[in-house]
Amino acid sequence: MKIVCIGRNYAEHAKELNNPVPTEPLFFIKPDSAVLRNNDPFYLPDFSDDVHYEAEIYVRIHKKGKNIEEKFAPKYYTEIGIGVDITARDVQQRCKEKGLPWEKAKGFDGSAPLSGTLPLTDLPDIQDIHFELHINGQMVQRGWTGDMLFPVNRIIAEASKYFMLKIGDLIFTGTPAGVGRLNAGDRLESYIEGRKMLDFQIR
Ligand code: ZN
Repeated sequence: MKIVCIGRNYAEHAKELNNPVPTEPLFFIKPDSAVLRNNDPFYLPDFSDDVHYEAEIYVRIHKKGKNIEEKFAPKYYTEIGIGVDITARDVQQRCKEKGLPWEKAKGFDGSAPLSGTLPLTDLPDIQDIHFELHINGQMVQRGWTGDMLFPVNRIIAEASKYFMLKIGDLIFTGTPAGVGRLNAGDRLESYIEGRKMLDFQIR
């Protein structure tokens, strides 16, 4: 499986990193070796001094597709969850300055802690979902999927022009404002509509 991620999908987050608000989606991919499940701890990598959290709603693809039309995209997912797009911000900054790809900063081992999923039958409108990330008991990010610049069905349509989507692939849908640094000992908890989905430690 792979994780297709969209960058800068919430205007307030693009602004906080001094990035322009995009006019077309910016994609990158995390490989399956990035996945962390079952609330396993995340180990800070030794190649970065500035590792950031980015809480993101994801959808799980349950049907294979390519060149999916936006209006048919809802047939390709039935479950959502929340993950953290862990980012080595200093490494990413160096890549950006040199015009290099971001994989070392975004796709490294363990950089995608994932919650389990909820069926969309419980949450019928994908663009009306509230989610939160708390660190050490303090809320640091609060998002509403209605604020996405590119809604989920558009992301699927655009991404599937380039990447065939397969069963089990995940789409990370971008992070709201409030990203910041992770430190050893932090406890991260994330919520979808008040339901605790993820609870893990940074080591
Ligand atoms: Zn992200």
